[in-house]
Formats: sequence, structure tokens, C-alpha cells
Amino acid sequence: MYIIFLGAPGSGKGTQAAKVARELGLVHIASGNMFRQAIERGNDLGFKVKAHMEKGVLVTDELAVQVVLKRVSAPDCHAGVILDGFPRNQNQAEALDEALARQNRAIDCALYIKVSNEELTKRLSGRLVCSNCQMPYHNQSSPPRIHDRCDHCGGELVRRFDDAAETVEKRLMVYFTETVPLIDYYSQRGKLLEVAGEGSVAEVGGRIITTIQRERAKRLK
Ligand code: AMP
Repeated sequence: MYIIFLGAPGSGKGTQAAKVARELGLVHIASGNMFRQAIERGNDLGFKVKAHMEKGVLVTDELAVQVVLKRVSAPDCHAGVILDGFPRNQNQAEALDEALARQNRAIDCALYIKVSNEELTKRLSGRLVCSNCQMPYHNQSSPPRIHDRCDHCGGELVRRFDDAAETVEKRLMVYFTETVPLIDYYSQRGKLLEVAGEGSVAEVGGRIITTIQRERAKRLK
């Protein structure tokens, strides 16, 4: 399956995408993680995206489309992927549809994780990420087993540089103006699934898996 996860910064999209991909045997492709890794490595891509990310605005569509489509066409993605953070606007959604259509494929569904604005602000303030593998944590709702260390790779947990208060505000604004219209985009194409994003990581994860499995069963009929 080709599944898109939609949701605001702080909706738990990254945490759930990683968890659900593991449980369903899909490849998790997170554009933000790919860009943060490029910045860490100090490579050409990192150099190109750093200033945009620090300001909380989107990197250019050209770059985002190029990086994500290349990853999606890798052989390990043929069994299915969860796209997390891409597409971010209609231009990217159309580029993705066109690229998949050329390979006789299509997006199966866009899963929208709905969370209230009040909850978003609360979640963003306690967020941590592994500086090595990018696994997300939260100091209250999903803390690591060992303080400041990643459960998976032992890497150091840090606050994301774009989680500073002013940058968060900008990222939320960009989300509401550029990404929210995608909810209508996928709804009009009969591909939108909505899941309540409030509750524990396990509860929300359970709801997402049930919703995806129901959709999968419908398609197999
Ligand atoms: P995220 O980790 O998904 O919250 O993304 C962090 C930042 O990476 C965003 O604020 C953007 O600057 C950049 N970014 C991630 N994905 C995209 C995308 N699909 N298009 C443009 N910029 C993106």
C-alpha cells in the first residue's frame, strides 16, 4: 500500500508513521528526517535546506519532490510505503500522483491524524528527537527508557532546532495555509481516512492500524 500520513506538526504523525510502518512491514519515508540527516552530514542537500528549516518554512517543491520521489522508487519500497511529511502542498501532491501514475500505481489512502490546536502546542513543547536515527520521543507521552538516550540506537536525544517557540508558530501557520488544503484534495478523490489523534501513542496507533486494515480489506474484496 502507498499511504500518506497527514497531520499538523505535533499531531504525532512521525511517531505513528514509524510505529505503524514497523507493524505493517511498510517503509517509512519521512521527508523532514531526510533533510535533518542531510544537515547533520553537512552534505549539499543539507546546505540547501538548512536556512528554510531554521525559519520554519517549506524547502522548495523542486527539492522535496526530487528527494522523496527518488526514495519512493527504490526497490525496497515496492511492497508499500508510509509517506510522512510529504506531500506538503497541492503542487507536491500532483507531482506524486503523476510520478506514481507513470508506474501504473496510485496512492491508496491519506490518513489524517486530527488533533486540537491546544493539544498540538502542548505536545510540541516536550518533543525530543534522536540525533542519530531521528526516532521521535516526548518527555511525557513517550519518554525514552534511559534519560536522553534513544531506545533503538543509543543516540543522544536533542530538541529539534525548529521546535523553538517562534519557529513552531511559523510552522503551524505554514501547515494551515499550505498543507490543510490537502485534506480536501484527498477527500475529493475518495482517499481520505480520518483518525482521532488524542490519547496515548498505543491507543492512537491501534486506531490507525484498524483503519488501515479495514481499508485494505475493502480493496481486496
Ligand atoms: P517535519 O519533520 O516533517 O516537521 O519537517 C521539518 C521541516 O522540513 C519543515 O518545516 C520543512 O522546512 C522541511 N520539509 C519537510 N518535508 C517537506 C516537504 N515535503 N516540502 C517542503 N519542505 C519540507
